[in-house]
Amino acid sequence: MNQMKDQFIRFMTGRYGADKLGRFLTAAAFVLFIAGLLIRGSWLDFIAAAVLAVSYYRMFSRNIRRRFEENQKFERLCFSVAEAFRRWRFRLQQAVKFHIYKCPDCGQKIRIPRGKGKIKIHCPKCNADFIKKS
Ligand SMILES: [Zn+2]
Repeated sequence: MNQMKDQFIRFMTGRYGADKLGRFLTAAAFVLFIAGLLIRGSWLDFIAAAVLAVSYYRMFSRNIRRRFEENQKFERLCFSVAEAFRRWRFRLQQAVKFHIYKCPDCGQKIRIPRGKGKIKIHCPKCNADFIKKS
């Protein structure tokens, strides 16, 4: 058993190994396999196998700089997706709590809390007043 471990360590020396992108690919392949089982006779398991092959290829790759760059790109993508989701959630929360009205005179957008009944809104830009139901 120890010998096998030594062999594995020797095999992995100078190879890239696992990273965030690798873990993501493995997980994606797993999800695709499951989906392939649920939707029988689909091409999903073929894609899953391809994704798994890519993740193993990267793990055993000796081109460490290239793999590192790929992972950097993936991390940046993850960040922008998370950022977009965060912004979307913020806009949704705002839409639940507030109503955005446009000033009829100057078109200035004014954020008003919801559920306050009929209220007079004062435009801070052109000082016009208008009545709206919030
Ligand atoms: Zn105005």
